[in-house]
Amino acid sequence: MKPLSTQFAYLDHHATTPVDHRVIDEMIELMKHAYANPNSVDHLAGRDAARVIDNARSEIAELVGSAAERIRFTASASDAIHKALTMERQDDRVLKIAVMPLEHPAMLRMLKNLQQDGHAQLVWLEVGSRGQLLFESLHRAMASGIDMLCMMAANNEVGTIYPIEEALAACNEAGITTLIDATQAAGRVDLSNVGALADYLVLSAHKIYGPKGIGALIVREPGHRIDTVFQYDGTPNVPAIGGFGLAARLARTGLEREQSHCSSLRDRLEKGLIDQLPGMIVNGDIENRLPHSLHISIPDIPNDAMVARIGHQIALSTGSACASGAQEPSHVLRAMSLPEEHIDSALRLSVGRFTTEAEIDFAIETISFAARSISGVQGEKLAC
Ligand code: PLP
Repeated sequence: MKPLSTQFAYLDHHATTPVDHRVIDEMIELMKHAYANPNSVDHLAGRDAARVIDNARSEIAELVGSAAERIRFTASASDAIHKALTMERQDDRVLKIAVMPLEHPAMLRMLKNLQQDGHAQLVWLEVGSRGQLLFESLHRAMASGIDMLCMMAANNEVGTIYPIEEALAACNEAGITTLIDATQAAGRVDLSNVGALADYLVLSAHKIYGPKGIGALIVREPGHRIDTVFQYDGTPNVPAIGGFGLAARLARTGLEREQSHCSSLRDRLEKGLIDQLPGMIVNGDIENRLPHSLHISIPDIPNDAMVARIGHQIALSTGSACASGAQEPSHVLRAMSLPEEHIDSALRLSVGRFTTEAEIDFAIETISFAARSISGVQGEKLAC
């Protein structure tokens, strides 16, 4: 497959990130040299491969501030969520689980299945129009006697960041089990205090410039239930785990640089678009969102028309990768109670480590030209 043309701006880093070339080089080296089975501890080559896994564990542990022994590798963040909830499921009682309605579909689907099968009763937390958690609803849920809190650290559509440390502190004091989905927040906000506080923490390599097909579940209590849930996992994917480890190190050591690079490009994009499309609306919690995230609505410009027109020039989306393509209105924007016309015209954009100013300027020009063409207003600013 050829590289994408230079006239293509990749602004869909919420869906996935390009693999960092340093990670690719590391993975190629591992494929060449660390090919032994890491479970073959009888010989040197097997022990070397096992060491790659141990090192990756240490890097991931440092990223989120947890002990390395707590880290288990999974096929993805979705798999990690599934395994965590499988560990928690009990046969003889119904767990009362608090959750926000704008969680990732991987979380919501599993929780709804548990509820349907009679293993869980879901307590819905309230969110505001910026996608923020209304914290009083968590207090109310806790007062009603919940067993577990499942919460994302940052939202994958609008980029809103959640007060995870406060929620974890409150839950730990009350003895409530916690499952934190840090898939979008990792590498974008500092999570170094979160790993030690959460019972379960979920990560995915492909959101932090690592390979696809590898995630992690950080588990509070290594023990019997873990062995049961992970027993069919087979031989570890050493190159992917090693790549994940390096991606975690790059994310940790470059965090501040990346935050400033991304937020300045995101702000340039936001400002440039508002200048061209003065009626454009920025969704999410503007004061408290992921540094690379820009979620907009361009009233009267249907998002499917926009994507059809410029999808060959800009990677952008109308919702999460799982929902986009399904042509269903975003459950996140619904949960935020946005007006229907803002939902219909919503676009998710996200910059990344390798995005350039030239790509941003190209995106501003392309999106605003397309909006004017769709609305039939040519050659002047579009007051949406
Ligand atoms: N959780 C969140 C918040 C996500 O954004 C995603 C992916 O978009 C997932 C979970 C699922 O990640 P994976 O693709 O590794 O299963």
